[in-house]
Amino acid sequence: MAAHQEKKLAEERKHQNMKNGTKAPQGQWGRAWEVDWFSLASILFLLMFAPLIVYYFIMSCAQYQCSLTDPLLDLLTGNKHLSDIWNRTPMLTYWAAGIYSLWVTFQVILYMSIPDFCHKFLPGYVGGVQEGAVTPAGAVNKYEINGLQAWIITHMLWFANAFCLHFFSPTIIFDNWIPLLWCANILGYAVSTFAMIKGYFFPTNAKDCKFTGNFFYDYMMGIEFNPRIGKWFDFKLFFNGRPGIVAWTLINLSFAAKQQELYGEVTNSMILVNVLQGIYVLDFFWNEAWYLKTIDICHDHFGWYLGWGDCVWLPYLYTLQGLYLVYNPVHLCTAHAVGVLILGLLGYYIFRVTNHQKDLFRRTDGNCRIWGKRPEYIECSYMSVDGTKYYSKLMTSGFWGWARHFNYTGDLMGSLAYCLACGFEHILPYFYIIYMTILLTHRCIRDEHRCSSKYGKDWKRYTAVVPYRLLPGIF
Ligand code: NDP
Repeated sequence: MAAHQEKKLAEERKHQNMKNGTKAPQGQWGRAWEVDWFSLASILFLLMFAPLIVYYFIMSCAQYQCSLTDPLLDLLTGNKHLSDIWNRTPMLTYWAAGIYSLWVTFQVILYMSIPDFCHKFLPGYVGGVQEGAVTPAGAVNKYEINGLQAWIITHMLWFANAFCLHFFSPTIIFDNWIPLLWCANILGYAVSTFAMIKGYFFPTNAKDCKFTGNFFYDYMMGIEFNPRIGKWFDFKLFFNGRPGIVAWTLINLSFAAKQQELYGEVTNSMILVNVLQGIYVLDFFWNEAWYLKTIDICHDHFGWYLGWGDCVWLPYLYTLQGLYLVYNPVHLCTAHAVGVLILGLLGYYIFRVTNHQKDLFRRTDGNCRIWGKRPEYIECSYMSVDGTKYYSKLMTSGFWGWARHFNYTGDLMGSLAYCLACGFEHILPYFYIIYMTILLTHRCIRDEHRCSSKYGKDWKRYTAVVPYRLLPGIF
């Protein structure tokens, strides 16, 4: 009911703005109130093709040794029909459905029922109940930060069951990879559809809902900002930060175990992928409280983009390197392996230090030291919807003086390292760096558009001092 009223209000606001020839001031925050044709076309494309893209990649590995061109050539030359490929694709099995249901239920239990204990004995780790950023409607949500503990418990149980008690084989994930893909899709669609219905009929906070009036856009980009069930089950934090990301390292371990089973050894490339991606995943959990202040949680609404993306896109496409190495075991020469390791670690270092510098700067309101000096910054101001003036600061020293998104640059260097670990035989493992470059460049532009409308002329002053986005002197 409340959501209907909010929807009506949104429509009235849209008409009023159109009459005045202005844009809704709320456009500063979260996703758009109105949909342009380009966004709509992109969304329809993704809704139709993203699940097919994932299937195509995984099928190429299972049936064509990870060649992306061979399936197409087979189809175009009439060598094979779609039905031939489909008939060789494993279907959903009760066994996979059972494993997947158990997995998700276990993650829900860890998320909901075990308050964080890691922060009690790990110095420097921030866990337990933490506050998120202020939502556009002015709410401040509380979150139980217990991801690190969920990751540790899950991995301990995995090792105990797979290697000591032998309840299941460590290759279990690889062996059921395609049947599990169907399960992940079912959950991804179910949760996105549920979130849409919930947004209409029983939203958690009606004032934080956005309706564009376009069904597909709302389905994809979400209506509710922070859908919750009860006080603590937060959809965004759970789906972004649990079933997919906790699984990421287990999936890689399962791929390594499969290499061992098939070839009697684990290649240095597989070890590199496991180690570098393992650092990235652990970093995510160690900094989960910081993650509450990132764009995903602070600005994106919860729809198919996050719901399906977290269930399917992330675990299946972020782990392509490990999958590739099962079908194509690559032995790197020492120089190549060391080069990949250095690039990966350097990328991670830049990613972490840049994010840490901003976090420290914002937490202390500039009263800190960056690289041994007091930080330099630009004072800026912005107005909230009700006309209240707020003040903020944009740092112009440390890595933030090198480029406006140097954290993305570090992330991209790390991503490139995972791909380079797979050698140069196929394009498939390079999908990750291509995707991350598009994702982070788009994010950069999206974020700067938002910051520019938020800070106005102050943002111009900032971009004059820090003129480059990702690569100093180039872009
Ligand atoms: P940022 O952490 O860069 O946050 C951007 C926000 O920071 C801006 O909106 C602005 O917010 C504030 N800000 C911008 N410039 C400055 C400055 N000079 N000084 C102080 N504050 C500033 O972006 P994300 O949340 O997108 O990314 C967080 C991390 O997550 C990144 O390292 C990224 O690489 C990673 N990431 C990884 C993904 C993956 O799939 N692997 C996906 C997405 C992100 P305000 O309005 O408060 O001023």
